[in-house]
Amino acid sequence: MKDGFGRTVSYLRISVTEDCDLGCLYCRAGSAMPSSESRLACLSRSGRVSAGPLSAGDFVAVVSAAARLGVDKVRITGGEPLLREDILDIVSGIAAVPGLRDLALTTNGTGLSRLAAELKRAGLGRVNVSLDSLDPGAYALITGGGDLGAVLGGIEDAKKAGLSPLRINTVLVRGINDGGIGDFIALTRAEAIDVRFIELMPISPDPDLEARMVSSAEILASHPELVPDDPSSPDGPGAVARYYRVPGFRGRVGFISPMTGSFCSGCNRLRLRADGRLRPCLGSRDEVDLLPALRSDPGRIGELLALAIGMKPERHLFGPGFSPDRTMDSIGG
Ligand code: SAM
Repeated sequence: MKDGFGRTVSYLRISVTEDCDLGCLYCRAGSAMPSSESRLACLSRSGRVSAGPLSAGDFVAVVSAAARLGVDKVRITGGEPLLREDILDIVSGIAAVPGLRDLALTTNGTGLSRLAAELKRAGLGRVNVSLDSLDPGAYALITGGGDLGAVLGGIEDAKKAGLSPLRINTVLVRGINDGGIGDFIALTRAEAIDVRFIELMPISPDPDLEARMVSSAEILASHPELVPDDPSSPDGPGAVARYYRVPGFRGRVGFISPMTGSFCSGCNRLRLRADGRLRPCLGSRDEVDLLPALRSDPGRIGELLALAIGMKPERHLFGPGFSPDRTMDSIGG
């Protein structure tokens, strides 16, 4: 299905909950820096969450309609998707939809040790783990008290379960975790793992953080050992990362540059929020509400997906004057 700018939309990202057990300073409302009581309160919301307005069956209905329109890749995200009590039903239901070639999940990794093997059995292909520091203190500061050891253990369990290729996504915030870039590059020495640096986007509880964005070009300039990798991306259409590697290292270092790169021309995505609203673009406020159709007229879901695809703007609206209406945890990053 093509949008108004000739881009084929084939990738649906689904947020299954807005809840999260971490309070990353650039992501969750109430988590503004410096470390504060509100962030600790945020963290105390940890624990598993029951179904929101959308059930596992609702997600499967949306994916089925999307697959009929040509969507062949689905990513489950949140909030923290592994907090949903019915996450295995969601995964197995979506995995059974005919026509999908790629089913992935983005997680902060805190629940991976508990769930990796079961997720694999339910039909999940792979996971991206969000990890912003390999230093326990900096990790706790960014996440509002997160336990780095638990996440590193979860990554090992995901690898053992065969959830591959496993990717690590890192958002740098100047003055907080940009000192750890070399640690992440070093991770790719012995392991065939992709570490990807994502530029901080102005979808954040604290507008002052914008100025702390570390650009991809800056990282590359300070790490001349990185050379461009084979440009034929194995990630398929719409891939947003550009890959580099240190010669002789097994893994790759990727750069996702929404703020300084040409991000939108190949955009193939649509996002479904946990409350049933479709977002045609991460960097715009437009939405299409699927909930009424899910409740009373499921035959219209395909038509509403097509409407949202037709609403995709040519490019995101990040830039001077952009003010987000929601933080990333509620859109589904
Ligand atoms: N809880 C899961 C996780 O941590 O991966 C999934 C949801 S989280 C919102 C998804 C991704 O969005 C994370 O990698 C996070 O770093 C990223 N993210 C959140 N806010 C962001 C921002 N303002 N700019 C760039 N990435 C952001």
